Amino acid sequence: MAEFSIIRQYFQSLTSQSLTSPHTQDVGIGDDCAVTSLPQDMQLVSCVDTLVAGRHFPLDTSAHAIGWKSVAVNLSDLAAMGAEAHSILLALSLPKIEDAWLAEFSRGVADCCKKYNVQLIGGDTTQSPTLTISITALGWIQTGQAILRSGAQVGDLIVVSGEIGSAAYALRHPKSTLQTTLDYPQPQLALGQSLVGFASSMIDISDGLAQDLGHILSASQVGAEIQLEQIPIANELAQLSIDQRFADVLAGGDDYQLCFTISPDHFQRWQAQSAQRAMTPVTIIGQIQQDMACHYFYQNQKFTPKESGYQHFA
Ligand code: ADP
Ligand code: MG
Repeated sequence: MAEFSIIRQYFQSLTSQSLTSPHTQDVGIGDDCAVTSLPQDMQLVSCVDTLVAGRHFPLDTSAHAIGWKSVAVNLSDLAAMGAEAHSILLALSLPKIEDAWLAEFSRGVADCCKKYNVQLIGGDTTQSPTLTISITALGWIQTGQAILRSGAQVGDLIVVSGEIGSAAYALRHPKSTLQTTLDYPQPQLALGQSLVGFASSMIDISDGLAQDLGHILSASQVGAEIQLEQIPIANELAQLSIDQRFADVLAGGDDYQLCFTISPDHFQRWQAQSAQRAMTPVTIIGQIQQDMACHYFYQNQKFTPKESGYQHFA
């Protein structure tokens, strides 16, 4: 099967999925570029993330999960800015054409797109020795409202969504009850958007909480105190030794939860206004401080983490 029939058979229909988005796609798959009208007073928010087989997911991951996760990790970056997701472009490099694999992969892409009301508007299909999926995600946000890493202020609360460390646990325990947290991350788009105008800084947790929070701290030129016992974890992690538990929580990665900072006053107001909305629960885990270091405490005792998070070139 040639490149064009792959596009036609597996991807073309994803542009025209019936979506509730008020923004129409002017030109989708089939021309040299997609053409999109930007809503008034909005800035384009864009990112790209590449997943390499054996490096970013185990080789035995199902094609459906690979499709889902490739989309989800990109939407998670949009969520971390507070942006509204609009569309994706998919660059697919395949060692060989396998119909069963492509059918499942494209179903995974479609399922994630559908859940988050996003359309596939273009891409590229090539042959390569290693299965590689590179997705560009596009979204938008009211001009000047994007939540950056650099806005944390001394005294702000440090807050995370969901449970942390589950994906790292699942990676070490194949086929455990936490497998779906690793294979099917849930980008926190609704939560991210709700925090616009409230949070002072935000990041998504892809490389481990310690490292990703560290990016906020250095961009904002502040430090932090974290109470480790406050960090929400799955029951499976509570059974682990303290060292292993906090290795998964702090250095694990692949959680795709949000970590944000917010003043106590804004946090109260945000809670009051978002109480009715169904969103992933959030938990305060610490506070921003002046001293430019990150101090961890476990039950009031100082705790020094042993690992530092995912290294892309390790
Ligand atoms: P070009 O030669 O101009 O790069 P292509 O022949 O690669 O165009 O692609 C034809 C059309 O199909 C384009 O609209 C492109 O965006 C789309 N496309 C190609 N591969 C994919 C894919 N894997 N997923 C979605 N759209 C794709
Ligand atoms: Mg062209």
